[in-house]
Amino acid sequence: MTRHKKWLAGLLALCITGLLASCGGGGDDSNQPNINPEPKPGQLTPASDAQPNVNYEPKPGQLPDNQPNINYEPKPGQLPADNRPNVNSVPKIDSPSLSLMAATPDIRGYPLTWTIWPNRNISVCWEMDGGTFNATQADRALVQNAATSTWQAVSLVRFEGWGICDDSAPPLPQTLRISVQDVNPHTKGLGKNLNNYPAGMVLNFTFGNFSTSYCQANSQNHANCVSWITVHEFGHALGFAHEQNRPDTPPSCQEPAQGSNGDELFGPWDIDSVMNYCNPNWNGRGKLSQVDMEMARSFYGNPNPPPPPPPTAPAPTTTAAFLSPILSLVLD
Ligand SMILES: [Zn+2]
Repeated sequence: MTRHKKWLAGLLALCITGLLASCGGGGDDSNQPNINPEPKPGQLTPASDAQPNVNYEPKPGQLPDNQPNINYEPKPGQLPADNRPNVNSVPKIDSPSLSLMAATPDIRGYPLTWTIWPNRNISVCWEMDGGTFNATQADRALVQNAATSTWQAVSLVRFEGWGICDDSAPPLPQTLRISVQDVNPHTKGLGKNLNNYPAGMVLNFTFGNFSTSYCQANSQNHANCVSWITVHEFGHALGFAHEQNRPDTPPSCQEPAQGSNGDELFGPWDIDSVMNYCNPNWNGRGKLSQVDMEMARSFYGNPNPPPPPPPTAPAPTTTAAFLSPILSLVLD
């Protein structure tokens, strides 16, 4: 089915995230251990790139002990695909309960709608000292470009600032804090839950403990890893959950659900989403799918809204037009 169809597939109220303490340690958005999108065997990376020697299960001890105890990411094997919500519970598209959603037919994906930032201007800052800030200029530029050329470019969200987090100043009202660590990239929640959260997003610039064989193979692979992972993690930062968490995930996608679920389900399941672990291209190679773009525009504004429909032709109202049939009767 086409993602352009103006119909809606369903609505689900699912797991309220951050509270799944039983899921164990290390929070992330999406995922902890494993959140991220390591290239999976069979996932396509550019033909010129060496396929990574993938082992995307976190190694024992890989996660630092100082991870916040908010981790609602499942441990490997903790949430098998079989535990997904029953797909039969998804309302049919003709369900009366969908009447409200019909007003927003372009929304797709799997957002956790209550985490959508109320303001479209989101400050971004780096948790690092000045020396590290200068030393990481190239990678930080990749991150900024990846976020602004995708989610920001297709919507009205604006990622601003990009300086060092200033903890001596009062926190800004909407701030995403990024920490760079050699661990699995992740976020500690979705959307505005990350507001001013320490290390709310963790990115990796060295890849000594994550996707090492692929990301360290050459400079292009390194840039791919930084950029593509950024696009995925910023999707979480905007409130978007993993596509494979959706209850209508087809049996052909065996990636287990990870991290927070969305709370509303619109449109068809999207294999091309950068938020879908079953995307045959790792992190969608950083390219938003049509559905990703529509979802961003739906929640954060459309910079190019479609023109209003042309007015319908008014009925003739002139005196001559009104009298014409009468005069015709008189004269005939
Ligand atoms: Zn993720």
